[in-house]
Amino acid sequence: MGCAAGGEAATWAEAVLAHKQATPLHAICKPKKERMRALFQPAGPQVNLWSTRLRAWAALLRLLCLWAVRPLIYLFDIDGTLVTTAGAGRKALCETFRSRYGADHGLQFSFDGMTDKAIVGLALQAMAVPLHEASLADEVERVLESYVNVLASHAQASADAFVIHEGVVAVLDEVQAAGQGVMGLGTGNVRRGAEIKLAAVNLYHRFAFGGFGCDHHDRTALLAVGAARGAALLGKPMGDCDLLVIGDTPKDIAAAHGIGARCLAVATGSYSVEELQAAGGDVCVPRLDHPAAKAALLPYGGV
Ligand SMILES: [Mg+2]
Repeated sequence: MGCAAGGEAATWAEAVLAHKQATPLHAICKPKKERMRALFQPAGPQVNLWSTRLRAWAALLRLLCLWAVRPLIYLFDIDGTLVTTAGAGRKALCETFRSRYGADHGLQFSFDGMTDKAIVGLALQAMAVPLHEASLADEVERVLESYVNVLASHAQASADAFVIHEGVVAVLDEVQAAGQGVMGLGTGNVRRGAEIKLAAVNLYHRFAFGGFGCDHHDRTALLAVGAARGAALLGKPMGDCDLLVIGDTPKDIAAAHGIGARCLAVATGSYSVEELQAAGGDVCVPRLDHPAAKAALLPYGGV
């Protein structure tokens, strides 16, 4: 039995020796360079290590860029900026005054850039309307409650008077698609008035939040309310966001600067580009779809 095993071992040893003599050394032990490469490459299909590393660096760079980007809070004015309503607001307010007080002569001034509360308060004082027991603020509220009902009737009766400015829808589409911030309103209209004017042209649903004329009689204060709502929607502190007000009057510009925002001023209302520049607009353009406006709206590039 043992002899048989010894015979097999001799046969195996002889076979190994014969194989070594017949096979060159580099075929049994791979060169050092190949062994080192094998340590860094996974088994299976060959992977280009440098391209994998570049892709990883690019992904890391993208993550860093996204972390560093400050989201925008857009606050759009309505009248003269997004739409024109052929004076529907003024007509509704005059009708409301005539109905309540028998006259509307206190409203003979420019409404440009004014808030609804400020307009009504000024007119009531100009007409020296007797307030009896009510405070001026209470009377303003009552007037505005009647006003929105009249405005709704005007919007229903003459929908053609409400027109979106050329290029606005395309710009809103681009801003929405780019996803660089949240779109809201910064308007002197009371919320219901804003809804009536924008719903008439199918735009109201485009804005997730806003600062409105019912939030405050002062434009700067209502923009601050709108900006705070935008920051809450983003889930970020206001200080981590950039604010951009889009308006058409020097009052929009002053209010924007009052909350530390930049103002994109468009000459689609009553003021020219030169007048808006003189008022300190940060970017002043003839229309909202002007290339300079798009650059201001999309600071991280378009889609
Ligand atoms: Mg305006």
